Amino acid sequence: MSIIITGGQIFDGTGTAATPGEIVIDGDRITEVRSGHHPDHHDGHEIVDATGCTVMPGLVESHAHITFPSAVGHIDPSFNPPLDVSFFEKIEGFPSELARAERNAGILLDAGFTSAYSAGSLIPMPTEVALRDKLDAGVIPGPRFKACAAERDAVPRGPVDRPEDWDKPAALADWVRSHAEQGFDSIKLLLSNDDVFVKGGNQITQYSEDQAKAAGETAREYGVWLAAHCQAAESVKLAVRHGFRSIYHCTYADEEALDMLEEAKDEVFVSPAPGIIWANIHAGEEYGIDRAMAEQMGSVACLDHMRELYPKMRARGIRVLPGGDYGFPNNPIGKNAHDLALFVTELGYTETETLVAATKLGGELMGMGDELGLLAENYLADVLVVEGDPIADITVLEEPKRIVAIMQGGRFHKQPAAR
Ligand SMILES: [Zn+2]
Repeated sequence: MSIIITGGQIFDGTGTAATPGEIVIDGDRITEVRSGHHPDHHDGHEIVDATGCTVMPGLVESHAHITFPSAVGHIDPSFNPPLDVSFFEKIEGFPSELARAERNAGILLDAGFTSAYSAGSLIPMPTEVALRDKLDAGVIPGPRFKACAAERDAVPRGPVDRPEDWDKPAALADWVRSHAEQGFDSIKLLLSNDDVFVKGGNQITQYSEDQAKAAGETAREYGVWLAAHCQAAESVKLAVRHGFRSIYHCTYADEEALDMLEEAKDEVFVSPAPGIIWANIHAGEEYGIDRAMAEQMGSVACLDHMRELYPKMRARGIRVLPGGDYGFPNNPIGKNAHDLALFVTELGYTETETLVAATKLGGELMGMGDELGLLAENYLADVLVVEGDPIADITVLEEPKRIVAIMQGGRFHKQPAAR
């Protein structure tokens, strides 16, 4: 018996216009996508009526922090920008970290994100490796997941002494190797600092050529991906030169950095993460982030720069994906689809381009571009049935009630109500 989702508009993730059609699912895969509706083929199959709905691929979060404390319904005001290292002292340990990550994974899937690519765990423990393995085994609900190590700053985070050789290229190689051996998929460096951490930080590139080179060579040797937090232009160039695959923010990228990103556009993915920047400016008052604080943290200037920069990235065909930095009180996990709206209102993308970025490009980011991110034959059946038309109004994806069905690998995480 197949599952047939019929009666709706099919948006297949490639960017072609949605058209009336139906998809057929057998096991964990889509076996057919056909235009029009074919009741004569429905006998003996499980039929899902998608009348009035858009049927589309599951969303991919490109910059997840699944261990961050705040999620919808679970706001933790103690972990709130501007961050200082004292928050690391409040962290309890592996079991509670993992429990929170599991909770957040379920909340992210409830919001329609059937895959998530991590941009770093909170603490230097293999929490995300354990989480990924549980998700892969199907024993807890949550997105398909790529695990990322805690981000490596230029000075060690938390209440620890700075090892003597921390700045040596060999220490970078060791860092990458040891995390690869722990089972992480991706390892992240703070190639640039950030105004959130230190005044003027957005312009500080804090790793050298030799350090980035050592990280890049070791990552290739051990088969792990590299990710980088980059605000300063030079940090973006450092990332591209040394084979970093995910490059976050890029806010102060100059023309040379854009040229390099364009040159490497088949290898790199960019995640601007506008959500937290927007939230600091527009949704922070309740948590003590007033306009002055948003300015101090660089958020106001960042959003202005992003509005200038991202239309250029778009014109150059660089792969830019929604998502990022959800997990703060003003920007909790579960609200991640707000990034899609911000791509349209702030960054100059069309709704269709944004949906392609969140689905097709997301599949590529997950390293599964030949089987994830599209509604197409032989692709994994990660499917949303959304009431209304996200191409006309992308904010419908922000309303969990309107995501009437969530399927992952051919199984309903959220079963459509009988209609
Ligand atoms: Zn981040």
